[in-house]
Amino acid sequence: MQRIAWDQFFMAQSHLISSRSTCTRLMVGATIVRDKRIIAGGYNGSIAGGDHCAEHGCYVVDGHCIRTIHAEMNAILQCAKFGASTDRAELYVTHFPCLACTKSIIQAGIKKVYFAKDYKNHPYALELFNIAGVELQKVEFDESVLQINNWNAEKMHTLVKEAAAEINIEPEKAEQLYLKISEKLN
Ligand SMILES: [Zn+2]
Ligand SMILES: [Zn+2]
Repeated sequence: MQRIAWDQFFMAQSHLISSRSTCTRLMVGATIVRDKRIIAGGYNGSIAGGDHCAEHGCYVVDGHCIRTIHAEMNAILQCAKFGASTDRAELYVTHFPCLACTKSIIQAGIKKVYFAKDYKNHPYALELFNIAGVELQKVEFDESVLQINNWNAEKMHTLVKEAAAEINIEPEKAEQLYLKISEKLN
């Protein structure tokens, strides 16, 4: 049975998060991972309670929308708010980070950045990542990993059991859950 690779799994998460973006110029999602555990996620959007670009139009100054906090920053700030260490963590982001985010990523102690798409990759950002010893890896997102309709029953069974074990659900309950899901699918 073929399981979804970790990098595709976390990249899928970042793409899912990006769907919550409120800025219509670019929808970005970021996921911070430590020891293969998701510790935070963010999308580019306004401050909590602020106007959304999607409703009010972008607030553009010098060719940039200045209303939004970038996805990477939102993920890092979520860690600051709720007290999760980002030291030696990994970041999965849908687009190559801008210069401001690059500096924050480095300063937060993040050691590896996976990105799905090149986006105005700034040479100084590349230089800074290099100086800081932050590893960069391009991981193009393979959308077919999300086509769960193609999954067969055996795959689904294993995935439900694994997911249940991760969140400490007893095997018998996981089995009931699987039966319920498969009933719905059939
Ligand atoms: Zn905007
Ligand atoms: Zn940025």
